[in-house]
Amino acid sequence: MKVKGVIFDFGFTLFYFDEPSIEKYFECFKTGLISSIDLLKKHNILKEKIAIEDFIKIFKRKRASSFKKSIKTKSEIPTSLIFQNALKIMVEKNTINDLDELNDQFYVKLANIYHSCEEDEWIPFENTKDTLEKLALKNLKIALISNHPNHKTIENILIKHDLFRFFDVIVTSAKFGKRKPDPNIFFHTLKKMGLESHANSIIMCGDEYADIIGAYRANLKAILLDRKFKFPFEKDIDVPNYIKVKDVSEILNFID
Ligand SMILES: [Mg+2]
Repeated sequence: MKVKGVIFDFGFTLFYFDEPSIEKYFECFKTGLISSIDLLKKHNILKEKIAIEDFIKIFKRKRASSFKKSIKTKSEIPTSLIFQNALKIMVEKNTINDLDELNDQFYVKLANIYHSCEEDEWIPFENTKDTLEKLALKNLKIALISNHPNHKTIENILIKHDLFRFFDVIVTSAKFGKRKPDPNIFFHTLKKMGLESHANSIIMCGDEYADIIGAYRANLKAILLDRKFKFPFEKDIDVPNYIKVKDVSEILNFID
């Protein structure tokens, strides 16, 4: 098949989390939140213990509601905005002083710190680098689409493992605003790849419903990386004509 481009998903397609569990995710975010609070303390935004406790409560509530909303509406609420909104509530309640002097970069920094724990946890699969190296020798574009609320985290992980250089385009829901399977995030990626009128010559490779359904809606060729383990609340993939593979390297079998 003449393939002009390949789009990969990030989590559990190119990278994995060792022994993934809900507890491990929560543990990671707890560490990240403590580090973000340290930065807020350093800038004298959070001072008293009572304000810190209040902030934790508001942030967690905002994060949970944003997560639910993002799944339901396919709109991403970036972590930086959750920090901004949580602190705004505290200003309105007079728990902390006005934050006029803070700029967007500060909220992005808080989000980067919050997600930094993840950067140590995500590891490339054994054949990820080799597959990308082989694809890079072919005349095609390589892109990545990740449903992630913080763009820099994805870039940092790719840089850390010397994989950033393989990608012509990196799109996250944090930056674009919509999540997979919304077809618009795929159309946006195709446009950035310069291949907007070549959807049927593009492979989308991912490990779950959002990747395959999104690919179907955007008229891309879908390849499902069939994981051994299942996550809770996974949806059945009820579209025809997608290919299943067990290892990311098998994608090379579908490209001339
Ligand atoms: Mg995934």
